[in-house]
Amino acid sequence: MMNFPLTTVSILKHVETEYGNRELVSYCEQDSVFRYNYVEFSQRVRQLANSLISKGIKKGDRVATLAWNTHRHMELYYAISGIGAICHTINPRYSMDQIRYIVKHAGDKALYFDGDFLAIAAMLHSANLGVEHFTCLANDKASTEEFTFMVYDEELQSQTTDFVWPELDENTNAGLCYTSGTTGNPKGVLYTHRSICLHSLVSSHSENLDIESQDVVCPIVPMFHVNAWGLPYSVPLFGASMVFAGANMQPEKLYKILDDEAVTYIAGVPTILSALLGHMESKQMKPKALHKLLVGGAAPNSTFIEKFEQNFSIDVLHGWGMTETSPVATLCKLKPHLKEELTIGEQLALKNKQGRKLYGVELKLVNTDGSLVPHDGKSYGDLLVRGAWVSERYYGSETSSSNQDGWFATGDIATIDENNYLQIVDRSKDVIKSGGEWISSVELENIAATMPEVQQAAVIGAFHPKWDERPLMLLVTSPDVQVSKEEVKQFLQDKIPSWWMPDDFVFVKSLPIGATGKIQKRDLRDKYQNALVDSLP
Ligand code: AMP
Repeated sequence: MMNFPLTTVSILKHVETEYGNRELVSYCEQDSVFRYNYVEFSQRVRQLANSLISKGIKKGDRVATLAWNTHRHMELYYAISGIGAICHTINPRYSMDQIRYIVKHAGDKALYFDGDFLAIAAMLHSANLGVEHFTCLANDKASTEEFTFMVYDEELQSQTTDFVWPELDENTNAGLCYTSGTTGNPKGVLYTHRSICLHSLVSSHSENLDIESQDVVCPIVPMFHVNAWGLPYSVPLFGASMVFAGANMQPEKLYKILDDEAVTYIAGVPTILSALLGHMESKQMKPKALHKLLVGGAAPNSTFIEKFEQNFSIDVLHGWGMTETSPVATLCKLKPHLKEELTIGEQLALKNKQGRKLYGVELKLVNTDGSLVPHDGKSYGDLLVRGAWVSERYYGSETSSSNQDGWFATGDIATIDENNYLQIVDRSKDVIKSGGEWISSVELENIAATMPEVQQAAVIGAFHPKWDERPLMLLVTSPDVQVSKEEVKQFLQDKIPSWWMPDDFVFVKSLPIGATGKIQKRDLRDKYQNALVDSLP
């Protein structure tokens, strides 16, 4: 067979010729809306490629972005990787210290930033970390005296739309994303052209994400978090239109954009999508064309899928993955015989699981001694993964992050059932080890969140002199609602094993949410890990 390299440029060329008139809509600075199609998009990508070359950006250089989901961010994805450089997406929600560390570690040569992140860009400029070029993602000059930077649209206008893409080997690095670094410093994961293309091809298939050319997809998941789950590559591959919501993450604004733009498909983490669901419930309406939804990044609560599906006729697909797995590794599509055999209630319960592995990925569950855990849907084990889009080593590291047999330990505890459906039970550091037995904090949280008065729940293992750890539950209740510890206990009573009952309940106004939209259990542990010991007589 011919050696036809799988590169991001191959996706760009395909969408330009095959689906050139499909639209991209971008909500950007000062509430402006930018509309164009894939032909015009490809022209601007070539202008940007010329601009990058004129700045001296070469193959292998890291070019950083600090940006919302916009058309310009999408152009950067393709132009940077297309010239053989590496598109390094920085999560602006990281602390300044973390961002400084990441930029230095990555050795970024240029930075493209949204106006909203001017303060971060100014900090990076004054820190003198070797970034030579700063460009604001805007159409005209925002006034600032802090430092000198270029303006994106002006930069593009000065360039021609002609560009001959270099022939790249498919194993060339194309993207770089740092993990949230819950322990120690953030770690960089490099994606290659090949891994991106294979991930896009498999994940978008009708058996998986089911992206079709008539879809209008809005990736609510940020493009600074694991490449928005690969959607900037997998959506154009099959010619679907795209809507970029910019900084508009508030449910009212998001709802209006989804409705106005007739979005058919959204993807996001449970916190943002639950807020959207709440807004839809208050209106008793859904965005008019919306009928497909992908949720992942954290476990949705147990009523999430049911409400979207039964009340709003939106098909929910639940997936699991990590920065290290590009990220899509499993998706919860029902096998044909299960659709026939299971009741609607049973199907909904199954859809809450994280699903089955995609072609190109393999999973296994092991005990601490490395022995295999049976696939019986009950036995817990450490989840290991390997595959064509799973990271082998972290950026800058000499050593592999996999074990001797080439498997990557995810840090998740899971079960796999007889039909191969994976269920994440907990992060290994979050699972509560009480008297030698394990209690799933995630399961307790999910059950508590079904109590009508409860908006959010988080459970941590707090120190206990007898049992080592016992569950402590933190609760955020709905506004103006009073609920007592006793009432929560009563609600949980017949839904969990008796020894899972939290030893105490703490009512809080809000829970700490981290840079990737997940509850920061580490902060909760720092604050509350001695709460049970302190309350003992
Ligand atoms: P990140 O690399 O920041 O995307 O985080 C990856 C981690 O998020 C995984 O190892 C899981 O612990 C968690 N995660 C991702 N998707 C899910 C899901 N659908 N359900 C539960 N946890 C998830």
